Amino acid sequence: MIELLSIEKQELEALLSEWKEPRFRAAQIMDWLKKGVRPEQMGNIPKGLREKLSALPFGGVKLIETLYSKKDDTAKMLYELEDGNIVECVLMRYSYGNTLCISTQAGCRMGCAFCASTLNGRVRDLTAGEMLSEVLETEKNFEHGEDRKRTVTNIVMMGSGEPLDNYENTVRFLRRATAEDGLRISPRNISLSTCGIVPRIMSLIDDAPHITLCISLHAPNNEIRDRLMPINSKWRMEELLPAAKAYADATGRRVIFEYALVDKVNSSEECAKELASRLRGINCHVNLIPLNSVKERALNGVSREYAHSFEGYLNKRGISATVRRELGTDIEGACGQLRNRRISERNTNSQNKGNTENC
Ligand code: SAH
Repeated sequence: MIELLSIEKQELEALLSEWKEPRFRAAQIMDWLKKGVRPEQMGNIPKGLREKLSALPFGGVKLIETLYSKKDDTAKMLYELEDGNIVECVLMRYSYGNTLCISTQAGCRMGCAFCASTLNGRVRDLTAGEMLSEVLETEKNFEHGEDRKRTVTNIVMMGSGEPLDNYENTVRFLRRATAEDGLRISPRNISLSTCGIVPRIMSLIDDAPHITLCISLHAPNNEIRDRLMPINSKWRMEELLPAAKAYADATGRRVIFEYALVDKVNSSEECAKELASRLRGINCHVNLIPLNSVKERALNGVSREYAHSFEGYLNKRGISATVRRELGTDIEGACGQLRNRRISERNTNSQNKGNTENC
């Protein structure tokens, strides 16, 4: 049964006609839903219809904790799903607006060697409504006080989870986020990051041609990528790079390659040279970031100074690259770190109570 926050207008119209309710109610209901309002609070909807709507699942998330960075203006939110699972979001302030990094799955099954989100595997996919609710609840969270202006202008799908491993919900979310009767965020202000599920990248050419596609590359060749990202055994770089090029060529949008610099693994000048030669001819930009060390993983980042040297090696070879700002390092800004801490706290508490709650 579809949840209210995921529903699209034509689906709601079909439901209303099944219920023998007037069609014009669809626009009124959509108006409430885009603000995250539950049926009980839909003032202009008759009680009988409100009750029918209340019987459907809603799909919202609930804020359980906000952490503010003391170093910069970043805030991290932990949200609880209706079934008790937890996901996290990060709100970053830039000169051009506020960017919210959302999660697309609880956990992740992609197994990247450096990532905290994948340590306990994937628990479940998020629905489109839950992703939308991450945005709506964040806006509510910052509605008051001096943070009033913190509306979400940009979205990056770079939190926990692999969006293209949850394709239908991801694409539905993109429609709801950009729709006139949805969040009305320009697709150009939405970035989707993938570890490289090639056929899904190709589907995005039709399903989401106006977004910014980011590809987590992290290596100049298969040998190094195999060590860091299990997905590389399924979709090799010989298939991934042409898919990136196909997206860029078909949509006219520059593709972003993400590259986390791991000391002694992918960060030598030789690696930069090989990367530059493989990316030549693709309309792209490389986002460099020193790997954020995760305590469970035995991999280390490079210094920011060195990251700038690597940037120089790429620029010298005609590849546009920048070192990404690191935000929220004091609030466990990297993927999945805070969620993991919270889950292990919960498990410790529940073990103490002799119960085996599973999140
Ligand atoms: N599954 C998607 C999106 C989630 S991860 C993907 O793989 O792209 C968002 C980005 O953070 C990815 O580029 C991922 O490789 C990167 N990342 C994960 N853990 C990191 C870490 N410890 N340090 C730096 N970047 C990391």
